[in-house]
Amino acid sequence: MTDDIREDAPEAAWTWTQPIAHGQDPEVAAALLWAAGALGVWVRTDDVVGYFAEQVDGLGDGVWEAVEEVDWLARWREGIEPVAAGGFVVVPTWLADSGDMPAGEPILLDPGRAFGSGHHDTTAGCLEEVGAHVGPGMRVFDVGTGTGVLAIAAAMRGATVTAVDIDPDAVVVAAENAAANGVEIATAVGSADAVAAGSMDVVLGNLLTHTIVALADDLVGALADGGLLVASGIGEARAPEAVAALEAAGLADVTVRIRGEWAIVVGRRRT
Ligand code: SAM
Repeated sequence: MTDDIREDAPEAAWTWTQPIAHGQDPEVAAALLWAAGALGVWVRTDDVVGYFAEQVDGLGDGVWEAVEEVDWLARWREGIEPVAAGGFVVVPTWLADSGDMPAGEPILLDPGRAFGSGHHDTTAGCLEEVGAHVGPGMRVFDVGTGTGVLAIAAAMRGATVTAVDIDPDAVVVAAENAAANGVEIATAVGSADAVAAGSMDVVLGNLLTHTIVALADDLVGALADGGLLVASGIGEARAPEAVAALEAAGLADVTVRIRGEWAIVVGRRRT
């Protein structure tokens, strides 16, 4: 996996670094840290880092380290490059005027506090599906929009897009990023039940496995007959669980594509 599922937690005083055990699902390791009170979690290739306000007991094998005074956002910005996927190239706003750019339709993004810089395999994989399947006039619903990256890409392809997130900050960031790219998307704080059943040609859900399983009925239910669902944020090992829930909710012709260690699940609503 690339190492940028991470949430900035500037108020954290301690980091807890814990190796990912052989065969352990990184999502589960991350979920345990969130449950223990982590302010932020960073899933890396071989380990998981939790950011905590104070040390907590009972986390098992790992190492506590005091957090230096670091401007995490500035450090993260220094390391980030434009990334191409699906005919798009996601460009951080502060690099918009820099010279060498990969080929593709530029999406200017300032991630702010939201997830979705384009670098994670799940985002890039979903962008590839948007590039392959979304066209003018389609009705697209982006559930868990984060920075709005997928919604903006769909709008650039001429779709009418509704984008929701349970995080109010993300909704603001997504609307700002859409405006910066000169596209319109309808944004709202909310989830997969925010649109009428059967009203969408494409539903995008780059969420976590347990969220996709929990929302399966609404994600598939939002689709018109034959409409396309693109779901990701699913660790490779948990793809069967997500597929089973989506098929039970009425998804057919399901394919699973692996990118890095992540699954991109695509299927159509049964007619
Ligand atoms: N769509 C962006 C992308 O592809 O990079 C961001 C994906 S990020 C992995 C998941 C987003 O889903 C986060 O912004 C989070 O706040 C949001 N989210 C989590 N649970 C949700 C739910 N039940 N309904 C709607 N959004 C949710």
